[in-house]
This record gives sequence, C-alpha cells and structure tokens, in this order.
Amino acid sequence: MKNSRRSFITKAAVAAAMTPFASLSTFGQGLTEAIDKTPKPSPPSDLKITDVRCAYSGGGLFVKISTNQDIVGYGEAVDAIGGTYYLVQRLGRQLNGRSPLSPNVIFEQFRKQAFFGGAQSGMYVAVLSAFDAALWDLCGKALGLPIYQLLGGKFRDKVRVYCDTQLYSVRNPKPEEYAKVARAAIDRGYTAIKFDIDEANDPNKFDRWNWTASNAEIERMYNSIAAARKEVGPHIDICVDMHGRYDAPTGRKVAKVMEPLNLMWLEEPVPADNVDVYKTITQETSTPICGGENFYLTYGYTRLLSEAAIDIIMPDLQKCGGLGEGQRIANIANAYYTPFSPHMVGSFLGAMATAHVCASVPNFHILEWQSASDTEPKWKDIVKYDKPFIEKGFLVVSDKPGIGVEINEEGLKKYATPNVPFFE
Ligand SMILES: [Mg+2]
Repeated sequence: MKNSRRSFITKAAVAAAMTPFASLSTFGQGLTEAIDKTPKPSPPSDLKITDVRCAYSGGGLFVKISTNQDIVGYGEAVDAIGGTYYLVQRLGRQLNGRSPLSPNVIFEQFRKQAFFGGAQSGMYVAVLSAFDAALWDLCGKALGLPIYQLLGGKFRDKVRVYCDTQLYSVRNPKPEEYAKVARAAIDRGYTAIKFDIDEANDPNKFDRWNWTASNAEIERMYNSIAAARKEVGPHIDICVDMHGRYDAPTGRKVAKVMEPLNLMWLEEPVPADNVDVYKTITQETSTPICGGENFYLTYGYTRLLSEAAIDIIMPDLQKCGGLGEGQRIANIANAYYTPFSPHMVGSFLGAMATAHVCASVPNFHILEWQSASDTEPKWKDIVKYDKPFIEKGFLVVSDKPGIGVEINEEGLKKYATPNVPFFE
C-alpha cells in the first residue's frame, strides 16, 4: 500500500512538472495569500500590525495603525510635528508584522534606538507620543477594554476641565471683556477658566525684545484678572498664563501682585527652562506656579519636582511621550505631592486619550479644554463621537474599548495640511 501511494505521488509530481500550465502553482499560492490577508476574527495573540500611515490636519499629526484583524488604532501629536512625515514612515516600517499589544516595550525600543538621534525631546518624542496612543488604542480594541482599565483602573468616571477662554484672539482686550468671557464660560457650566495676560502688542511696552513689563503693563494684567474675579466670585477657579515670555523680575512681581486674586495658578511667568529661576518664584509667592508643557519624557520633570521648583506640572500627552509616559510622569509627581494638570491643545481624540490617563492616577487635578472646541464645527467634524464632548465642566471618560473616540477621515481631510500626503 505504502509503495503504491508513494509511486502515485511521484507520478503526479512528474506530470505536474511536465504540464505547460506551470503558473497553476502560482495561482494556488496567491489564493493562500489572499485568504491570509482577509481580516478575520482571531485571538489577540494573532494580532499583527500591517500598515502605518499618517495625516496632518487641524494643527495635529494623526497616526493610524492598521492590523490583520480589521481594527485600527489612532494617535495624535501636537506642536512639535512640522516636518515629521518621513520619521513616521521610518518608525512605521519597523512595526509591520509586529503585535501592538506591548506599547511600553515598543515605546522603550523607539526611545532607546534614537538615544543618539534626538529621542530626548522635540519632534521625535512628539511622533513617539502619537504612536504610543495609537498602540494603546489598538490594545484596548483587541482586548475589549477601555485604556484606563489597561492602565490599572480609574479613580474617577469624569475628569474636570478648565475652559481656556481664548481671549488672546482679541487684540488688547479691556477688563470688561475678561469679565464677559468669564461669565460666558461659567454659564456653559465650567467651574474653572483660563486667561492669557502676555501681550506683545501692549501699547505700554517700551521695547519689542525686552520682556521686563512696565508698571502700566502689570497694572493692565492685574485689572484684567481682577475684573474676571469680580464677575465670577470667589469660588470659580481662575488660571493665568504668561507663556514663558517675561524675565525674572517681571515674573516675580506679577506672582506677588496676583496674590490677592487667589489664582488656581500662574503659568510660566518665566520660561521654565531655567529651574533655578522657577524655583525662586515658586518659593517666594503664595500664588501656585505651574508649567511644563514644553518638557518631554519623565526626565523633563525630575529636577523641577526634586527641587520643589514647581507647584503643579502640566505635561502635554500629545507631545511629552504619550499615554504610558504620561502616567509615569503623573506617578513621579504624586511622590512629590504635586498635582498633575495636563496641557491639551489637540482634538477630542487627544482629549479623550489624555482623560484615560487622568482617570488612572490619584493626583489628577484638572485638564485643559479650548473654548473653540465648543463652538468651531471643525472639532466635531474630525471625530466620530455620539455624546457631548463636555458636560457641565467635566469630560466623561469613555467606557468603549481603546480611546473610545474614532477619527472621521472624511471630516479630517477637509482641514488637511496642503501638500502633505493624507493617510497615504
Ligand atoms: Mg501654557
């Protein structure tokens, strides 16, 4: 029996070799490949990354990671993203065929491999942040869990946000305008609001390049915020941002002058790069001093915290390293009894991704929210989300698998950066 079977196989092989239709075997191989490439339910252990693409739109970088299981992950980066298209392509190629289920491992590999290539800060870390969020999104979708659950569970169901009034879009606003936008924000349910008081066009400024504020400028700053405080009363939280533009004597003076207004914080009264100056201001005023939106990775925050140079930290999770690193930064801050109040200027995808981390740490304080996201149609166009973004000053953390917010690629395309490939 054995012999006759073997001889049949041999004869068949000889016949196949002699056939003029040699391409028959190629046909069979193509069919196998096609079946392999068809998305189908399979265990998360079989999940593999098949493609990584990106789009630049609405001021952000959006990374899309596709898989062999018909699920995709999206992540966002902001600010430090110009000129990063080819970096995304290069990192994306390294992920093809890999499982996305270990975002911390991939994060550390990407960070370490560019240790001599700029992985300490800037564009590299911003891109890494978008990859990290997209990987967490995929993990959640593959395992059927929201990201906060993968991060260890949630301390809260909703995260408090402050409304950045965006009065900076008005040139030299008067104190009554501060009062007016403050009222409008609290009427929409916010319990915390933010104003910018740095003003390059202040007519009382003596010199374009020097950032020592004149007495009249400091008076303008005080009167503006005092008008808002008078309008909203003592229980609404007011944050004030100076965008790191002023010098040390001005920063010290403004922090002192603002003390009677009981601010929630004074943000970047001086550039946060010089920890020594920051520490001086923080330690000599009762006004809480915060900053950190331009720092990267856990290392960016260690000295600020260990030297008590800052009262509140505000990493931007679409820039500082992503969701895993954002949680690590928050945990380090917690050891210094320091609140974690993330900077956020991304889309609702970035806001919700950040909210998962905010939910997962005890020392979360408050999250940034832009007033324009309530009013400009762009922000609703670019995502798919079936509930209000903000409810009475809180962002309700999604219980859906992954981030819980999808990108609407058609909507996103409307605002795409010209001359840059869009998810190609
Ligand atoms: Mg700021």
